[in-house]
Amino acid sequence: MEDTGMDADVVIAGAGPTGLMLACELRLAGADVVVVEQLAQRTGESRAGGIHSRTLEVLDQRGVLDRFLAEGAPQPVGHFSALYLDFDESESRHPYPLMILQSAIERLLEEWATELGVRVRRSSEVSGIHQDETGVRVELGTADTAPATLRARYLVGCDGGRSTVRKLSGIDFPGTEATMTALIGDVELPDLPEDYVWVRRTPSGDYSAIAFEPGWYRVITSEYDRVVDRDEPVTLEQLRESLVRVAGSDFGMHSPRWISRFNDAARQAAQYRKGRVLLAGDAAHIHFPAGGQGLNMGVQDAVNLGWKLASVVLGRAPESLLDSYHAERHPVGERVLHNTRAQSALARPGAATDALREVFGSLMVFDDVNRHLRHMLTALDIRYPVDGDHLLAGRRVPDADLKTPDGATRVHELLHAARPVLLDLRGSAEVAAVAAGWSDRVDLVGARSEDDFWPVPAVGEIPAPAALLIRPDGHVAWASTTDTPPDTAALRTSLTTWFGPARQG
Ligand SMILES: Cc1cc2nc3c(=O)[nH]c(=O)nc-3n(C[C@H](O)[C@H](O)[C@H](O)COP(=O)(O)OP(=O)(O)OC[C@H]3O[C@@H](n4cnc5c(N)ncnc54)[C@H](O)[C@@H]3O)c2cc1C
Repeated sequence: MEDTGMDADVVIAGAGPTGLMLACELRLAGADVVVVEQLAQRTGESRAGGIHSRTLEVLDQRGVLDRFLAEGAPQPVGHFSALYLDFDESESRHPYPLMILQSAIERLLEEWATELGVRVRRSSEVSGIHQDETGVRVELGTADTAPATLRARYLVGCDGGRSTVRKLSGIDFPGTEATMTALIGDVELPDLPEDYVWVRRTPSGDYSAIAFEPGWYRVITSEYDRVVDRDEPVTLEQLRESLVRVAGSDFGMHSPRWISRFNDAARQAAQYRKGRVLLAGDAAHIHFPAGGQGLNMGVQDAVNLGWKLASVVLGRAPESLLDSYHAERHPVGERVLHNTRAQSALARPGAATDALREVFGSLMVFDDVNRHLRHMLTALDIRYPVDGDHLLAGRRVPDADLKTPDGATRVHELLHAARPVLLDLRGSAEVAAVAAGWSDRVDLVGARSEDDFWPVPAVGEIPAPAALLIRPDGHVAWASTTDTPPDTAALRTSLTTWFGPARQG
């Protein structure tokens, strides 16, 4: 990079899934990135157990999905508080949750980041932050490591639920306290009955055991109205005692690989941006991990923020573009906190909850209810508040089959380079004339849709559009129908809003 006194355009704190995904997005868009991670090496802790349809699509949009599919196992159903959710093949090319451990996700993301030229600096803990008009000075170091500083235009805290970046920036983290305690461990369980299925509720709480590898189980016990200090160390003995309390047996548990504790505290950062500091992933929101949404949401925060931040640091768009990150992603986080609180309430033991679950379960057999919850968990229905009343405006673009002069392709394949795409399905001269002003930043693609109707989750089948402007995150910024000429003024406004002013001349 040119000598600006900066060590990088962006420093990212934390090499978890969010930080690594953000680093890849920034690199793809041409920004220079350093990821600083406090740990000397990846922990290998299993943590999250899967990814949902929209995250699978996001990885597909970048051409790296096959790496994840090769290590994961598609599941036939999802769940809302352990009540089954069906999937619908017409809604996504990936209508399933993919079971894959977080440790594998992090390894694959880090490999990809390294290929893209991201610098990951380990044993580097953020301990101080100083913002000024042109950048952020990030202090690194602990009692055990030599102090160092990095200077960048922006700092993004992807440093998890206890985010130092969030605390040092003075960003509030309001929400609700924990009301329960869950213990989790990767252990061997030789005496688990052969007819055991996944999760069981008992009068003392609930427990689950999922085999990720032959012989190895991830066991989770949840005990309600029992709150333990999160900093208290966790032992195999505690997990064993908890399993005996909840299940009546420890099923011969032994050889722990990893044991941890979590709870249902739900909090969200009041601001996702404060000047030159931004937050993403668990640093911006924590909640009960019901339905497996946290990692997914972090990856999607990263995909929303990456292209915007790159455009700003590379001088292609005004700084105000960054405000749309909070405007678009804060409500998404709010909805997840809300649904995980509901899932936690549905999981509590007792006759009243049993009855509530039965009623709720009886509603879930209705397609509309099942679909509504499925869209919420998979995040396929997210609609950002962009201008325009086309049914696609603000939604994620369906992955329709296309024919281009070069052959067959799909909409999501057009997004591999993480560049905006103006997809013209009717060969419109007006659209091409407008596109010329942004040809350095926006790819104009002429194609024909193979389908007359496109499926849009939460809407239904809609006629294929005539043209659409797709942001690098796969959301539609502007679209036109086949019945009326394209509104080129609206297209110009949209291009300017998201990708900066047209080229001079
Ligand atoms: C039991 C359980 C099951 C779950 N299951 C799912 C699931 O199935 N699907 C799902 O989507 N989510 C799930 N989650 C949630 C998921 O694990 C988190 O949402 C995800 O890890 C968040 O990723 P992140 O990158 O934002 O933060 P983290 O994974 O917490 O990464 C933060 C990184 O920042 C580093 N760091 C921290 N402080 C500093 C500092 N000061 N300086 C430098 N580095 C620092 C940390 O070492 C860490 O590497 C589950 C969580 C739990 C506990």
